[in-house]
Amino acid sequence: MRNANAITALVAGGAGFIGSHLIDALLAEGATVVSLDSYLTGRPENLRHLDHEARFDSVHADIVEALPARISRTRFSHVFNLACAASPPHYQADPEHTMLTNVLGTRNLLRLAEETGARFLLTSTSEVYGDPEQHPQREAYRGWVSCTGPRACYDEGKRAAETLTFDYQRAGRADVRVARIFNTYGPRMRPDDGRVVSNVICQALSGEDVTVYGDGSQTRSFCYVSDLVEGLMRLMASDADDGPVNLGNPNELTVADLVERVMRMTGSRSRVVHRPLPVDDPRRRKPDIGRAKARLGWEPVVPLQRGLEETAAWFADEQARSAPPERPAGRPALVEVAAE
Ligand code: UDP
Repeated sequence: MRNANAITALVAGGAGFIGSHLIDALLAEGATVVSLDSYLTGRPENLRHLDHEARFDSVHADIVEALPARISRTRFSHVFNLACAASPPHYQADPEHTMLTNVLGTRNLLRLAEETGARFLLTSTSEVYGDPEQHPQREAYRGWVSCTGPRACYDEGKRAAETLTFDYQRAGRADVRVARIFNTYGPRMRPDDGRVVSNVICQALSGEDVTVYGDGSQTRSFCYVSDLVEGLMRLMASDADDGPVNLGNPNELTVADLVERVMRMTGSRSRVVHRPLPVDDPRRRKPDIGRAKARLGWEPVVPLQRGLEETAAWFADEQARSAPPERPAGRPALVEVAAE
């Protein structure tokens, strides 16, 4: 968003991977920002560098519950909803909570936007297209989603969140924007996130087996987080209120290709092992970003190789930070223990 110094933004899911990068971008443009996070998957360390930032505050609460007074009493100009676990193993761990986060949580934030007159942006997902029969996916495609499978809590939750959002708009209750986010990667993903980019990089760096689900021929299109955040900022500032907008990188590749790139890049000697393909795992996914280009003048600029290098460098630092401190040279651990 440009001219952001008059902006007071709420970022729900602010301690998450994408939310924390969005907060950095908003602050860099002069906005005042409040993060709201349940810390179920978000991490305090993603915001620690903002501890002394006067234009930033963070609130620990779950959007499923009534919003705390610190939030409901603030006159936000913009509300971003990024609050939901987004990795299949995490959102499936408590499917009821995932569904409620998307339905009740989105409703709580829409009501806040209605009360304060804030513009509201929902981060929806390419998962609303399910296992798509149309390729690439355009916003007009209505999707092929199982409403009973293990991914439904997220897919159908996000579809319901979109419904609520556009119902508020139709009724004149809120000014809304909806982004459909495709696979995104970058620094600040959790090492235990469970998604393919973080799994494969962490496994390759630590020499563990690299896990390919199925035969690796399924495709995804990966967008670097800085590109995605730029798309969200532009969408919030735009007049694109007449439907959802795909945000993602149309550079499609197979999971096997991705693994090969990461192995080459890290010089890893890990074994590549195959695991069963998860139920309802989409075969192909690639955004049509014609609408984002036309309406927002946006398209991704970070090439996959550079994005993967940045991400791998960040994970390598993380692993070094969390490793036990090195023992003084020449004093093997056993000698130390024996001496005590
Ligand atoms: N995948 C994989 N190995 C992993 C994690 C995921 O092969 O360690 C596959 C997964 O089955 C899917 C693709 O990589 O086909 C992308 O999965 P991810 O969980 O990153 O995101 P999704 O697009 O499925 O939400």
